[in-house]
Amino acid sequence: MKRVFQNLFNSLALFYHSIRFRLTLWFVLILAFVLAAFSAFIYFAQARDLQIDEVGQMQEKFARVTAFFRNPDWQNLTLSATNVPGSNAPLQSGDLMILTDMNGQTIQSWGVSPSNPNTLISELVSAASQRHDLNVYEQSISYTNNGQQSRGDYLFIITPVLGGDHLLGFLIVGSPSSLNNQLRRLMLSLLLGSLGMLAVAFLGGLWLADRAMRPVKAITRTAHTISESDLSRRINLRGRDELAQLAGTFDEMLARLQSAFDRQRRFVADASHELRTPLTIINLEVGRVLSNRHSADEYKKALQTVDAEGARMSRLVNDLMTLARMDSGQAILQMEDIDLSDAAVEAVERMSPLAEHQNVKLEVGEMPELHVRGDRQSLIQMISNLIENGIKYSGAGQTVKIETDSHRNGKHDFAVLRVTDTGPGIPSDHLPRLFDRFYRVDQARARDTDEDSNSPTGSGLGLSIVASIVQMHGGEIHVESKVNKGTTFEVTLPLQSEML
Ligand code: ADP
Repeated sequence: MKRVFQNLFNSLALFYHSIRFRLTLWFVLILAFVLAAFSAFIYFAQARDLQIDEVGQMQEKFARVTAFFRNPDWQNLTLSATNVPGSNAPLQSGDLMILTDMNGQTIQSWGVSPSNPNTLISELVSAASQRHDLNVYEQSISYTNNGQQSRGDYLFIITPVLGGDHLLGFLIVGSPSSLNNQLRRLMLSLLLGSLGMLAVAFLGGLWLADRAMRPVKAITRTAHTISESDLSRRINLRGRDELAQLAGTFDEMLARLQSAFDRQRRFVADASHELRTPLTIINLEVGRVLSNRHSADEYKKALQTVDAEGARMSRLVNDLMTLARMDSGQAILQMEDIDLSDAAVEAVERMSPLAEHQNVKLEVGEMPELHVRGDRQSLIQMISNLIENGIKYSGAGQTVKIETDSHRNGKHDFAVLRVTDTGPGIPSDHLPRLFDRFYRVDQARARDTDEDSNSPTGSGLGLSIVASIVQMHGGEIHVESKVNKGTTFEVTLPLQSEML
């Protein structure tokens, strides 16, 4: 039982703190305020109109009564038309008239008789003596009508009866007033109407808020089911409203996270795979030479293999560390003004022995002075990687050309570095993924070349490093390639224009 109450209390607390309840509450409060103002306006306007109406009717009645008394033929007419329907006699059913002397003593009375005529008369006389104009007073009185005792609101007009300059007495005319009754009914109608409207508004508001909040629930549900291992879920909310936009942004973020996680996973898998291959080769080779006696030449060959694989692994680890540092923003770039052509010449010098070894011609084209802001060592590494690829993949007898240039795009000047080779080219379907980590167009060829010639290894990280360096310098890299014709890598970096 306690649990049930606890659950109920928790649900109520949750509902109380929910946006839909608070939205509805604010909506109902504002509506209540508007309804109260509107009802007050209606009530007071109606009360004033009814009062003016009743006072007007009362004054008309009084005028008819006095006209009746002034008419010389009055004895032929009926003053009081009690129980005569449709009569135009001055006094109607329920009306009363009292003629008093100057002391307030009843001389004669017509129609309904009040229970306490003396109190009524003295009250009216004292009210009238304070005001000298013809005035209408409202009083609640007990009276006897046709032998029946009742109570009700009456409107009275009291006027002095003068004989020349002397006050002879007072004439009091009273008529039942429905003003208070009508106002009470109006008040009740307004109150019930307003309460009904507020109840409908509350329920409707809850329903609307519930509908509006449904996408939020969907987002929350999806967010609950998303775990690090499964980022494939999407909210897929249709529509064009703000929440659909939010859900869309959420889905996009999930897609980005998913692809980042996938890339990370692939990267780890690829890295371990790349490291496993040389380790396996080393293990096999060492196992083989240890198992039997071998000639000195065979030991030497085995050690050379171990050396080459060790070098390959250390290059791979270096490349991985470079990328990891760049990814985490830990790579410390010593930014300075440097001449891109200068860096290109240094990279060419560095790569010349390899080119010579591979029998590839290194050609240096136009090299104008181009000042860019960058880290000298990183830029040389970036250019070296591009030249190295040109040499590695073009093969003997081919040419790798390096040139620099500048161009203007809109308001900005850019330095351009081009590395063009006459090698085998890259099929266009590989171009979009060329800068991905561990991506190789032809995995077997890269490794074969490596083993046959002792040339730099191909692990598929070179171009990723190039792309990261270019990106960190605020530049862009593009590749154009034709199979059997050659490949051109073009790097664009912002030019230090003031140095021009
Ligand atoms: P790798 O270490 O294998 O050279 P890269 O990231 O530098 O890795 O290059 C990725 C792949 O792009 C290479 O395996 C190669 O197939 C292709 N590639 C890069 N540069 C050239 C080029 N100049 N000519 C032909 N193919 C190239």
